[in-house]
Amino acid sequence: MWGNHMADVVASHGTPARLRGTPPGLNTSQLIATTIPIREVVSSAMADQIICWTIGLHDTLTVCQHSTHSSNTQLQQYLTERESYSADINRQSNWVGTSAAFAARCWSLRTRSLRSRAFAIRIIWDKGMHGGNRSKGHAYTPEQKTFLSICTACGHPDSADHWIRHCPHGLMQQHRKECLSAIQTYVDTVKLTAVADVLHHMVSLALNDEDGHRIWTANWTERCQQELSPYIDKASKVIPLAGLRTHMVAISRHFITAITRMWVDKMSLPLHPSIADRLATDMATLANHYHQTHAWKRSARRPTTPTTRIGLPPAIRHRHTAFTPQQRRNQRNNSRAKERRALAQLSLATVATTPLITQFFQSVKTKAADAASSQRTPRHSFPRVGEG
Ligand SMILES: [Zn+2]
Repeated sequence: MWGNHMADVVASHGTPARLRGTPPGLNTSQLIATTIPIREVVSSAMADQIICWTIGLHDTLTVCQHSTHSSNTQLQQYLTERESYSADINRQSNWVGTSAAFAARCWSLRTRSLRSRAFAIRIIWDKGMHGGNRSKGHAYTPEQKTFLSICTACGHPDSADHWIRHCPHGLMQQHRKECLSAIQTYVDTVKLTAVADVLHHMVSLALNDEDGHRIWTANWTERCQQELSPYIDKASKVIPLAGLRTHMVAISRHFITAITRMWVDKMSLPLHPSIADRLATDMATLANHYHQTHAWKRSARRPTTPTTRIGLPPAIRHRHTAFTPQQRRNQRNNSRAKERRALAQLSLATVATTPLITQFFQSVKTKAADAASSQRTPRHSFPRVGEG
């Protein structure tokens, strides 16, 4: 599309034509400049051939922006390489066709701070340091692998599925219970049977399917998406797809709230004794794999010694300094601003702002929304990676 734009500018202004600013996607780190000799262009035109942007190896024509094209290609390349890596370490993997755009919408990635987005991405793509990931790699002995794979909360073998759906630690169970209760309350308010059926089946997949933990992270496997597809088809006859998506995103955000709380607790709980004991003895060299190691070391060395404060405590040091009314107001405003920032980071109920339909609904979109798509601009017809 930018090629067309540039051609229009040149046609309008002739040789002094200049483009203002940098076109979106014209990033030299993502795009490789290619020179096409005029002879080749002319001969292509004479042979009635078409020069165009394509996705992959000349198989699918695209009219999306370069950045969208580049992002999609990078995502597909990443997913393919991830499959290859998993096969290399003898693990199952099922990331191709995953609902990345839907996950981005449910987690409100666009509106999160960088830090909060990094947190979300780690969970969406299963990059968190749970036992399953901690024990990856060829460098460990079988005994070390087994040790590293233990859940820090309960002492059982850990994995994404374990900590999300099965960890028996009391806090984890409590978060799951509250989540399902909130979802039930939500679904009870849905009047349309076909929509409620979609939501019921979505929850059923989350609880019972072998890939159900991926429903919790909103990054569904392709198979689970196909499982739900007939229900979505049926519901799309009684509700606009955007409305149905709103319900699904609402359910997803309950799951996301729960797993956010579970992960935060998992990372802050004291190490399970079966881990802490061995880090003090035969597995001491692996201590750097645990977030809680510093706290564990402190408590192991000085379990009952309170921290000694050097000098006067701040309350006494500053007692003589009286705040002016303006300083007090500033202090209050700063505290409130801090609270707002913290809430914004943790807020999982942010309303999605983009009107685009998620790629997750692509199969039904082609049936129901093709007519409408002709009225949209090309830019709005192709959600970029990260949009839902
Ligand atoms: Zn556990």
